[in-house]
Amino acid sequence: MKTGEAEIITTRLEDLLNWARASSLFPMSFGLACCAIEMMATYASHYDLDRFGVIPRTSPRQSDVLIVSGTVTFKMADRIRRIYEQMPEPRYVISMGSCANCGGPYWEHGYHVVKGVDRIIPVDVYVPGCPPRPEALVGAILELQKKILQEKPLSNLKKSPENTNSD
Ligand code: SF4
Repeated sequence: MKTGEAEIITTRLEDLLNWARASSLFPMSFGLACCAIEMMATYASHYDLDRFGVIPRTSPRQSDVLIVSGTVTFKMADRIRRIYEQMPEPRYVISMGSCANCGGPYWEHGYHVVKGVDRIIPVDVYVPGCPPRPEALVGAILELQKKILQEKPLSNLKKSPENTNSD
């Protein structure tokens, strides 16, 4: 069918990869404490994370985002790290709420609480609050998307020995 409209776009491969990744974030279905209730509310119809391409998955092997929503106890720390390590790269972490950020209300006397999930896994975006509202989590998703759009996924490829070998 001839419409007279252009059907070809040109772009850089890196921009295309970044756009695809940022537009299809698959968080691991996982919650720890009260912040997880706010996270579930954010997934629900009123805030509707689907419209950002954010679709939760039930396996770490199909996920690229870990939203740490709640209190990170020492008992859970190993499990959180194991889930993170089972996720394929590139993978991202959102620390949601004061507990995950720094221990929250358990900062001083919570002998059982890790004082920040960044002590066990790297964090890309922090969401302040106790608990943060759904709008704050939506803001964190948008921040993460901005960060992904600035990545250079092909730069490692260019540096690999196979690509520098002249044979
Ligand atoms: S930050 Fe507040 S709302 Fe979130 S898990 Fe900790 S105590 Fe609960």
